[in-house]
Formats: sequence, C-alpha cells, structure tokens
Amino acid sequence: MTREQLSLYDTTLRDGAQTHGVDFSLEDKLLIAEQLDGLGLDYVEAGYPGANPTDTKLFGEKRKLGTKLTAFGMTKRPGRSISNDPGFQALLAAEADAICLVGKTWDFHVDVALGITLEENLAGIEESVEAVVASGREALLDCEHFFDGYKANPDYALSCAKAGYEAGARWVVLCDTNGGTLPEEIEAIVTEVVKQVPGDHLGIHVHNDTDNGVANSLAAVRAGARQIQGTLNGLGERCGNANLTSIIPTLMLKTDYAERYETNVTPQKLATLTHASRILDELLNRAPNRHAPYVGESAFAHKGGIHVSAVQKDPRTYEHVPPDSVGNVRRLLISDQGGRSNIMAQLESIGIAVPKDDPRVARLLEVVKEREAVGYAYEAAEASFELLARRLLGNVPQFFDVDSFRVMVERRHNALGELVTISEATVKARINGETVMSVGEGNGPVNALDNALRKDLGPYQRYIDDLKLVDYKVRILTGGTDAVTRVLVESRDGEGRRWFTVGVSPNIVDASFEALLDSINYKLIRDGAPAP
Ligand SMILES: [Zn+2]
Repeated sequence: MTREQLSLYDTTLRDGAQTHGVDFSLEDKLLIAEQLDGLGLDYVEAGYPGANPTDTKLFGEKRKLGTKLTAFGMTKRPGRSISNDPGFQALLAAEADAICLVGKTWDFHVDVALGITLEENLAGIEESVEAVVASGREALLDCEHFFDGYKANPDYALSCAKAGYEAGARWVVLCDTNGGTLPEEIEAIVTEVVKQVPGDHLGIHVHNDTDNGVANSLAAVRAGARQIQGTLNGLGERCGNANLTSIIPTLMLKTDYAERYETNVTPQKLATLTHASRILDELLNRAPNRHAPYVGESAFAHKGGIHVSAVQKDPRTYEHVPPDSVGNVRRLLISDQGGRSNIMAQLESIGIAVPKDDPRVARLLEVVKEREAVGYAYEAAEASFELLARRLLGNVPQFFDVDSFRVMVERRHNALGELVTISEATVKARINGETVMSVGEGNGPVNALDNALRKDLGPYQRYIDDLKLVDYKVRILTGGTDAVTRVLVESRDGEGRRWFTVGVSPNIVDASFEALLDSINYKLIRDGAPAP
C-alpha cells in the first residue's frame, strides 16, 4: 500500500523563539537546527532575517544542512513596491532554501491592522509570493488568522489562500494564530479549503491555546493537509505551538496514521527524539517536563507492585508504545506501594546484581519503606536510592567524614547603604585521617555550605570540580508542630549528566546538607574514585 508523504516543518527557532524568556544565541540556533536536521524534518524555519542581528547573521552565509533552511518574513509593506521595501529585500538577500511569508487573511485584520482595502492586501500577497519564486527560492505562505478569518468571511480568507497558491507558493499554510479553534472546526474548514487548494500544497500551523494543538494538526491531516508546522516540546508564545515532539511519534507509531502516511523521519531518527527534546531544554536551562508524552521522564515510569510486575512480564500491559522507539527508557519507581519485584528491577537498572532471595533485598525494602514514612522520596531521587542500596549491600567506601558544620546568616547594610544578606559556612571534615577546615560564602546558607564542603576534598577534589547544583526544591511536609523539610537537589556534571538526591530533616539546612553529601558521594562512586 503506497503511503502519502507528509511534510514536517519546524519553527522552534522562529515562532518558538517568541516565547517569554527565550533568547537563542546564534550558536544555540545552529545546534538546534542540527538536531532538527538529524531528526529528519523537511524544513527548519530558523528566524526572521533583518529583524534582529542574530537572524541576519544566521542567514548571512550558507549553512550545511540536509533540511530546507527557511527564512521567515512578512509580505511586502502596503503602499510600497518590493524593490522599495527594505524588509522584503533583507528577506530576499537571505541564504535560505525557502522563504515563508506571513500574510493577512482575516478581513478584520486587513482593515484594522493594515488599514488597506481587501484588494490591495490580495495583490500584496500575490506580488510577494511571485517575488520569492522569481528569486529561485521555494515560497511558502503562512495565512495568518486563517480560521478566524474563514469564520468571519470565508470567501475572502479562501481567496487569499488561492492567491498564494496561484502565485506559486509550494505550501499555503493555514494558521490558527490565536489558537482558539477546535478540532472539529479545523477538520470542517480544511475539508472546504482542499476543494480550492490541493491538499498536497496545504499546511497547518496551530497554536495550543485550548490544549488541542496536536489534535488540531492531526485533524487537518485527516481533512487533507499534507504539511504540519510545529515546534520541539511545543515551545511557543502563550500556550505554545503544536508540539512536534508528540505529533511525530503519533504519526509514526499509531497504526491509522502510520499506514496512511510517511515522513522523512525514519525509525532510527525517531529514536533520537528524546535526546533532541532534552537538548532544547538544556539550552533553555529549563527542567524538562517530566510528564511530557513520549519523551518525559515519567512517560514510561511505573509505580506500584502490580504494575511493575506486569510490565516486567510484558511491557504492553501498561505501555502504549515501546519507550526505546522514541529514545526514552522505562523507569520502575520505588515507593512504599512497591514490593520486592520493584526493588529488584530498580537494582537491575542501576547494574547491581543480587539474587532475589538475598536477605539484603528484604532489608533494603524495609529501609526504603521506613525512610519514605518519615519523608524521603526516592522516586525523584534515584541517586540517593542507589547510594542507599549500595550502602546496604556493603559496597560504598567512606570517602570522607564530616565532623561538624556551622552556618551563619547575616543581614546588614553594606558600605553603599544597601541591605544585603550574606551567608558563611564552616565545614570540618576528615579525609584520610586528616582534618580539613573549609570556609565558604554564598548568597544563602545552602549555597555557602555547598561552597565550603566542596572547597577542599583533598584527593577527591578533581572528581567534583565539574559538579554543579542546577536545581533545589524544598517541600515542607505537614505534620503539625513536628513538620519536616524535604530537600531535593538536582546536580549536573561537565558531561551534562544529571542526578537527583534527597535529604530530610526538621531543619532545612540539615536536610540540604544531607542531599548535598549524597550528591558528592554519588559522583565519587559513579566516577570510580578510589576508596581511601
Ligand atoms: Zn505561529
């Protein structure tokens, strides 16, 4: 059975870059473009040349990519000729394989935002698309507010789409710019549009304002559109764009779509999806969404003894697709619902081989349950779990001992009369029988303690030089007057590996210290630091 080709168009670097708090450097953009290229996307829209120095530079030279590097810009300015429109000229000067123009198709916008007649706008679309085609580049037309425009004035919205197609646009892309259209409306409207513009020249570009970005994209495909525009991780302003990280595996792994359509993403490339998703978060310095479909850390995480033992018998019992198909991994969570099989699976996944009937396994389960009862959470802190397991199994060296620590917090006015809070910590540690005193300063007590603890670990110092605390979460567990604090610390090393550790105490500094110690010890073990 021959399958129809779907074109995938990524706009993470242009529409996604509109996100509040996102600011890609040129290097970031090139790195992400490479990832997207590696995934097999047909188009990578990388920016808006002429609008900012980064994008102008990006399109200032030819980039070696397999994908079609696409520049984005507006149709020509009303009342000007193309040769007299500097913005349009900057676009034509871009070293791009394709140029995507955004044009207005909602009569209300033409009237209010542009203040020109509907005919002038239509002529502007035609001339602009023709100019791109004449420059030898592939032209795309983003029909801004198409669905709202169609609802208000279907004839006009359609005439804009047709004008783009007839002027030579390879793709006419229907945009749900405000993101408020629902799947059934999308399907009905696209069904009408394909009667005027062939589906293999029609694209869909939606925003996620009703959380239907993925559903709307699929609805458009069912109605005949053959290009999907979206972003990695659904990055985008407001509630984001259609999430390609969910759309791509759905197209490839769900029978109805997989049998009817094909894309240039091969199964091997699909297996790099989780990695690409995490790289983007890494560059944005964001914690990845644990619950993201397909690529999230929890997407294939199982908790509870019955689920875990069933998944071990056959993963299909609780998994809709195999995690490795998208480059993700199965995680079996440790919790007080979990039984022995859960612990065994977890030990196996961290490479600890013990027989199931080893009495130390029962002991470990008991300790995990006891500790979870007082507030520890090993689900989120696998490195602490690993340490605990290795300690009970008797193979964790005592690299160093901390005899005592002291933290001082001072709030005062500095010489400039500004109110400042500074913290200072002193740690007394014993390493190889030698006592080491270290002092550290920081903007808070935990930061000071971390600095002091890591100042001098003697022979172990080189193992922790690249260790960085990247996130720190505090939870007060309610227990009336004897409330305890749980601190979860996320650490990262120079190779980008992350791990989580946990500490619990009635005292927040003490809880933090415990999590910090676990993090350091975990790193020393993982990197094979020699026992003293
Ligand atoms: Zn958009």
